[in-house]
Amino acid sequence: MDQNQKRFSHNDSHVVVIVGSGAGGGTLANELAQKGIDVVVLEAGALHTQGDYLTDEWGSFQQLAWLDKRTTSGNWRIAKDFPNLPAWICKTVGGTSTHWAGASLRIQPHEFKARTTYGDIQNASLLDWPVTREELDPYYDRAEKKLGVTRTNGLPGLPGNNNFKVMSAGATKVGYTQCNTGHMAINSIVRDDRSHCFQRGFCFQGCRTGAKWSTLYTELPRGQATGHLELRTQAHVVRVEHDARGKASGVVYYDAQGKLQRQKARAVAIAGNSIETPRLLLNSHSGKFADGLANASGQVGRNYMRHTTGSVYATFDQKVEMYKGTTMAGIIEDEARNDPKRGFVGGYHMETISLGLPFYAAFLNPGAWGPAFTQAMDQYANTAGMWIVGEDMPRATNRVTLNNDVKDQYGQPVANVHFDDHPNDEAMREHAFKQGSAVYEAVGAKTVYRVPPYPSTHNLGTCRMSARPEDGVCNAHGQTHDIPNLFVSDGSQFTTGAAENPTLTIVALAIRQSDYIAGQMQRRAL
Ligand SMILES: Cc1cc2nc3c(=O)[nH]c(=O)nc-3n(C[C@H](O)[C@H](O)[C@H](O)COP(=O)(O)OP(=O)(O)OC[C@H]3O[C@@H](n4cnc5c(N)ncnc54)[C@H](O)[C@@H]3O)c2cc1C
Ligand code: SF4
Repeated sequence: MDQNQKRFSHNDSHVVVIVGSGAGGGTLANELAQKGIDVVVLEAGALHTQGDYLTDEWGSFQQLAWLDKRTTSGNWRIAKDFPNLPAWICKTVGGTSTHWAGASLRIQPHEFKARTTYGDIQNASLLDWPVTREELDPYYDRAEKKLGVTRTNGLPGLPGNNNFKVMSAGATKVGYTQCNTGHMAINSIVRDDRSHCFQRGFCFQGCRTGAKWSTLYTELPRGQATGHLELRTQAHVVRVEHDARGKASGVVYYDAQGKLQRQKARAVAIAGNSIETPRLLLNSHSGKFADGLANASGQVGRNYMRHTTGSVYATFDQKVEMYKGTTMAGIIEDEARNDPKRGFVGGYHMETISLGLPFYAAFLNPGAWGPAFTQAMDQYANTAGMWIVGEDMPRATNRVTLNNDVKDQYGQPVANVHFDDHPNDEAMREHAFKQGSAVYEAVGAKTVYRVPPYPSTHNLGTCRMSARPEDGVCNAHGQTHDIPNLFVSDGSQFTTGAAENPTLTIVALAIRQSDYIAGQMQRRAL
């Protein structure tokens, strides 16, 4: 953290307060600061940098992950396997952009029109986004430049590692034609004052070289350097406050010493990732807003999506050493189309994945033990792996609610995450398991493992954008329908999940939102 950063008074009511410093919040903060708008970023996590990252998988998880209690319900296997860990999200400066793998894909045009394209799917709450791909393209351009996404803007692709070579050979044999080393927010050359990727691997533990984009060492310090951004760490926001007219007036947070503080604000933007964002809105209920802020529609927390995931791992006669090189080193795109003839709407990607041995043991088949399990562990060096990421159906009943029976360290009700798989999700996962297995079997796999989804890394949709206020929480700019100076600035905004890893879109939306906020301020509408 820049010790010389500008500091703003708690009573300064002209600042924009941003909750969370991850992909959404960190980007929005820097974009606003670059325009000369004063910003205070409140981040619940502590500062961890390349200097203190740990090369120990569980140690790194303990260091970076959000471990405050959450609860779960629903028929998803997570509720049984990881009842207090529905999601794999970070609580650290830079948020989950410290942990992420860097896959950066644009949502496809038809996915912005999911309701129109897929029709009326039973027990799903599909809706078209109030923004089109065409409208978002200029912001995707800016996001790809910012992140240095490989194979865009003339940047070379990353070299494929062994894990990719196995997947690519299998893909060709199966007849796929769109298998490549992906679009990654990882420097393939020295650029942006950061190193190129050293292919050291274990990208989830934080990138020591800084080759992988993270708000930690790009957006946040650049924003601080403008003199318009103050970052406060270990500042856990528990409440957004409003004035008598119902406009957001500031936030209340616990500081690093556990002392309650109040920061006044001209506008508030919440980017706590899609579980904490609705939780904060719900916990901010008041006499005027008994059901929580921005919740006149009753939609806050609903339509929680987490992508249809799962992994396929396979063992081979020869060594693969999947852990060498970038964690996500390649992608098969052929199944990402919408082709209902396959028995489901929407599509999915297959992306190489590699977990360290401790996570591999924990996620392969939670609860399993005995000879078959130890054999799988023994074969670790000879194992290749891929992760499935597909569009899941939004459902009003899949939702984040407050669990008033369980409180966190600040006495606040924790989030309960309820999720039932939709039949479309199950049909897609089955198809992907079959296709993923075929890819590995085509190149001589000895054993293939279908691995269930682990705690959700892509958390989306709990404060969705909608054209009509009654269908969602915010408009096409992330501005809440009910409170004009209250914004949602993370993946909670997603109207539907699409089949693409979400962060590039979160960043594109944050850039677009910053232009909108600046314009509103100029017109004195904020
Ligand atoms: C292992 C892993 C791999 C991933 N790989 C990819 C990938 O390859 N491609 C991709 O697109 N996405 C990937 N993701 C997902 C990606 O990291 C997220 O989509 C992205 O970081 C979300 O951005 P965000 O701003 O919504 O939230 P985050 O980046 O999670 O930031 C939220 C921040 O808000 C803070 N916060 C929350 N509540 C409060 C509060 N009340 N007060 C103060 N601060 C608060 C948190 O501490 C956190 O720092 C991956 C995620 C994981 C875990
Ligand atoms: S493999 Fe590349 S992106 Fe991943 S941690 Fe190493 S240097 Fe960073």
